[in-house]
Amino acid sequence: MDKFSKVKANLEKHGYKVSVFADAKSAADYLDWSIDGKSVGIGGSMTIQGMGMFDRLRSHNVVYSHLNGFPTEQNGELVYGAPTPPDHRAEGFKQAAFADIYLASVNGLAETGEIINIDGYGNRVAATLFGHEKVYFVVGRNKLAPDYDSALERARNVASPKNACRKNAATPCVASGAARCFDCSAPDRICCGMTVLLRPSIGMEYEVVLIDEDLGF
Ligand code: SF4
Repeated sequence: MDKFSKVKANLEKHGYKVSVFADAKSAADYLDWSIDGKSVGIGGSMTIQGMGMFDRLRSHNVVYSHLNGFPTEQNGELVYGAPTPPDHRAEGFKQAAFADIYLASVNGLAETGEIINIDGYGNRVAATLFGHEKVYFVVGRNKLAPDYDSALERARNVASPKNACRKNAATPCVASGAARCFDCSAPDRICCGMTVLLRPSIGMEYEVVLIDEDLGF
């Protein structure tokens, strides 16, 4: 998996732990084995959703994922509800934001080591900066870009329009068939906050899980 050698070396130089897997199944097995008996927050990631991590992790962790429904305690047992509608996510976002472990993917990963994410609610970008024992970034090979500028270009003009399409947003990027970002001011705009992790936040542990498959947007 030579395609990951440069980004792996740079991320490790910057202080991230890095693991590399040939496929999503192997990475999912690794995460399932590594995360046990913890509270776990998951951002709105199609990568992590596609890997089935919610169902795998909730059998031996407490998992906060708005795409799958937040847990509530009923008669002493945790019960997971239906996927949480946007207007009712605030409390679950907070629980996810301060869980022991946080899982997210990225919108662009530069081979030079910068990690870029763009968010509408800000829950994911905030949660990847602070408040956890450990953050895992789970990254398919399609998220890789040669340098910061191209990773930013990918995040803004590839990942964000595709995510807007997934949400069926009333935005010009969706009307164009996800051709590019129009830096819109539509009420449905999903691109409000952007983070660039230049180095791991002080006092936090990070692991970047690189997977040699196209995953998510
Ligand atoms: S800023 Fe607007 S046009 Fe650009 S990707 Fe986001 S929602 Fe689409």
